[in-house]
Amino acid sequence: MNWITKFIKPRIKSLFKKKSETSKDTLWTNCTCGNLILKEDLEINYHCCPKCGIHHKLTCKERFKLFLDNGEYEIIDSPIPPDDPISFTDSKSYKDRIKSARKVTGQEDAMMIAKGKLNGIDVTIGAQNFKFIGGAVGIASGEIFIRAISHAIENKTPLIFFPCSGGQKLQEGALALSMMAKTTLGVNELKKLNLPFIICMTNPTAGGVTASWASLGDIIVSEPGATISFAGARVIKDTVREDLPAGFQTSEYLLDHGQIDSVIERKYLNSAIGTLLSVLLKKPEAQVNNESNVTIDQSLQSAG
Ligand SMILES: [Zn+2]
Repeated sequence: MNWITKFIKPRIKSLFKKKSETSKDTLWTNCTCGNLILKEDLEINYHCCPKCGIHHKLTCKERFKLFLDNGEYEIIDSPIPPDDPISFTDSKSYKDRIKSARKVTGQEDAMMIAKGKLNGIDVTIGAQNFKFIGGAVGIASGEIFIRAISHAIENKTPLIFFPCSGGQKLQEGALALSMMAKTTLGVNELKKLNLPFIICMTNPTAGGVTASWASLGDIIVSEPGATISFAGARVIKDTVREDLPAGFQTSEYLLDHGQIDSVIERKYLNSAIGTLLSVLLKKPEAQVNNESNVTIDQSLQSAG
């Protein structure tokens, strides 16, 4: 990258741009606040807008890299059940939707799981990629989630999960809904062995995900400004026929009303959750070479 590509904004550059170039090639990205951000700067700032602080969505691999010690992780493979179990088609066939989601994200399913270390402690970790059909949960995500539970039990590790989903897949009907029960039973197995299950809700966490495993964490934290809901605000407003309070269904609102335990900025998540695990597992604090290694008190203060 030279100074011209770094400092001349895309609008000016587009005058000189070849028609064949796609927006994917640009070094810049937009924030919903209207700020144009150099992708490199966004990455350095934990994928948070330097101007408004909005936490941009992450892919599963970006999440693992940002969260775990030294950015090191190993993906845990999980068998993927056959696609399209009820041959669903709307304006486009479900098989085609899966195919294009795989092409865009490079993932087999919206959910991915991995193992690594946090604060020197072996952990199993999972995340959802919203770019893969809105992070929706079907039988594949259900199987991957159960694989994460099995891995945590076999290796006696805590399980940390980052939900980011609109809920269950309508394209898989009742089979997707049955995953709510299956994942809940899986979490129960983890709890029987007193293995910590930590949830960090991200924007958005909604529908069947909120109504099953994502609300079952021993400790539930959230990134700032995340929408956390079961039914959407518009549906609720139309049902109760009243104006909803300011900030309804945001992580800050849910913290004030006791549904979650803390709101923590992304850059402090690994140190805060790492410290929590050290306390829960009665392990001494590891000296991790990590810029954001602050105490949980600092993290919580910063979250207000
Ligand atoms: Zn912004």
